Amino acid sequence: MAQVLFLGGLGRSGTTLVERLLGELPGVCALGEVVHLWQRDLRDDERCGCGERFSACEFWQRVGKSAFDGWENVDVDRVHALRDAVERTRHIPRLASAVKPAADVREYASFYARVYAAAAEVSGAKLVVDSSKHSALAHVLRAAGDLDLRVVHVVRDARGVAYSWTKRVARPETDGADEMTRYSPGRSALLWNAHNAAFGLLARRGVPVRRIRYEEFLADPRAGLRRLADFAGLPLQPADLDFLQPGSAELRAGHSAAGNPMRFTVGRLPLRHDDDWTRALPAAQRRLVGAVCGPMLRAYGYPLNPEETR
Ligand SMILES: [Zn+2]
Repeated sequence: MAQVLFLGGLGRSGTTLVERLLGELPGVCALGEVVHLWQRDLRDDERCGCGERFSACEFWQRVGKSAFDGWENVDVDRVHALRDAVERTRHIPRLASAVKPAADVREYASFYARVYAAAAEVSGAKLVVDSSKHSALAHVLRAAGDLDLRVVHVVRDARGVAYSWTKRVARPETDGADEMTRYSPGRSALLWNAHNAAFGLLARRGVPVRRIRYEEFLADPRAGLRRLADFAGLPLQPADLDFLQPGSAELRAGHSAAGNPMRFTVGRLPLRHDDDWTRALPAAQRRLVGAVCGPMLRAYGYPLNPEETR
């Protein structure tokens, strides 16, 4: 049975960084955001984290062979149709309340389960990591019978997340021709509430969910990784964390299929808590996000007045 650690949370919450650090641990195979594999890799042949085009990456070609006897046997239109039918935030209440998952939910989940099992087999890893983030997908994966699913729910201060969504970021996969999505602070505040609540619901449905605060994780990545390894049932030796130095990590190339541009970083990655929002997010927007997300910010232990953190 494939053992999967799913990294969830609203985008720009730090899931890519957590995944890159987890990917350095022995016995871990980090896959990136598998949710985008079908379109961006199978269809668009974008770059893998190793730098190769998807079709030229030996790892992913072996995974496709093992999972589907070749990627050409995957009906991407079918995957898209299933996704549109089941993997939507508005479907989460239905997904969460279903005693027995519907056939289309099980079929959609099985595509992921096959990728995870094949990746574990090809890499020899004990644990595969999917940083797809989407809460609806995490709910769907409950329907995959042959999966040991554990979820890390990454939370970051909603105001930091909102500020990040306002910034322009080019997508290196498209050689800068395309930009990552941007959201207004009001919109990202609503999304932040919805996605984080969805992971709370997942935990109440019996899925092992470990919530981490991104800011806390960055303050002590060594302790944070030890706790996550423990949660995932991964035995660690002290030397396994030697890639961490004070304030940085030394990364090797991985095979992340899709996601944040940080997936391409090889070598030294600075581990610095980015609190630019405390200076750069306009006061009115900060108040708006603080008001919309206030109850959950408080529940997660974030001070509503950022001056309190100083
Ligand atoms: Zn690759």
